[in-house]
Amino acid sequence: MMTTRREFLKRTAVAAAAPSALAMACAEPSVPSPVGDPIRPLVVSTWNMGLGANEAAWEVLSAGGRALDAVEAGVRVPEGDPNEMTVGLGGFPDRDGIVTLDACIMDENGRCGSVAALEGIVHPVSVARLVMERTPHVMLVGKGAQDFAVANGFEIENLLTPDAEAAWRRWLAEQGPERPPINVENHDTIGMLAIDQAGNLSGACTTSGAGMKYHGRVGDSPIIGAGLYVDNEVGGATSTGWGEAVIRAVGCFLVVELMRQGHSPAKACEMAVDRVIAKNPDWRDIQVGFLAVNRQGEVGAFCIAPGFNYALRTSEVENVMFDAPSRI
Ligand code: ASP
Repeated sequence: MMTTRREFLKRTAVAAAAPSALAMACAEPSVPSPVGDPIRPLVVSTWNMGLGANEAAWEVLSAGGRALDAVEAGVRVPEGDPNEMTVGLGGFPDRDGIVTLDACIMDENGRCGSVAALEGIVHPVSVARLVMERTPHVMLVGKGAQDFAVANGFEIENLLTPDAEAAWRRWLAEQGPERPPINVENHDTIGMLAIDQAGNLSGACTTSGAGMKYHGRVGDSPIIGAGLYVDNEVGGATSTGWGEAVIRAVGCFLVVELMRQGHSPAKACEMAVDRVIAKNPDWRDIQVGFLAVNRQGEVGAFCIAPGFNYALRTSEVENVMFDAPSRI
């Protein structure tokens, strides 16, 4: 059965409705509807930087390519953009002025790879993919990850751009708070989930983490189950925001498990945000957002505070931004 445009928008864009309608939608019993054809291919990713990333992923998906290739190609776009100051080249440094990057990737077979606290490599997601494909391990960190990258042909480059260095010097002069106020622009993650024409799911995420973090700090983004989780039988989830809170809740694994229990992506994200809230008494001072898709192609998101958005691209939705509903 063909999916009508109306059905499609209803199924994919619940999170784009007005807040009151959203609250109602989230309160409804939310077992995923088996009605209609699955939506595929599809790519969805976090924040405005998701638009460019989705286009690169869409080139792969629309040509019949694999979701794994799509998510890698997609998140490489902001990684390589020096003006994108929360990911890859040009990312905010740590408190010692060193840019350290976190990334991971996961495919439809549950295989995954990850790098954390990686210095000097523009595309950590591609290193993460090689960890998955060429080692018996899931995660490499720090110098070991960099050595592995160099041994596999990656070049070490200076990732600290003049703009990021200037921001760091300003921070040094002012000695800002250890945790930046909610919604400040010194940390974000591109998390991407894709379904290919064959119906297989993959995901990737990559970030420079919390700006002005302690040297060696690792956030949720490279941790499988925290910043990203994909189960081909169920769906996938990715997160952004204050990584420490997401790690404590094993956030993305939780979202996927809630979808496995029959909750829609929107409801699963909302329930995971509520878990984060329950575990963090200071939740009003942090932002956490989850983005999820189930294998039917239903998309949902939820966050603590207003401001989190995501970009969706399908054959019917031409790369549109949606605001995630929020608890505050
Ligand atoms: N979750 C990332 C981290 O904590 C940052 C972000 O997405 O805002 O490293």
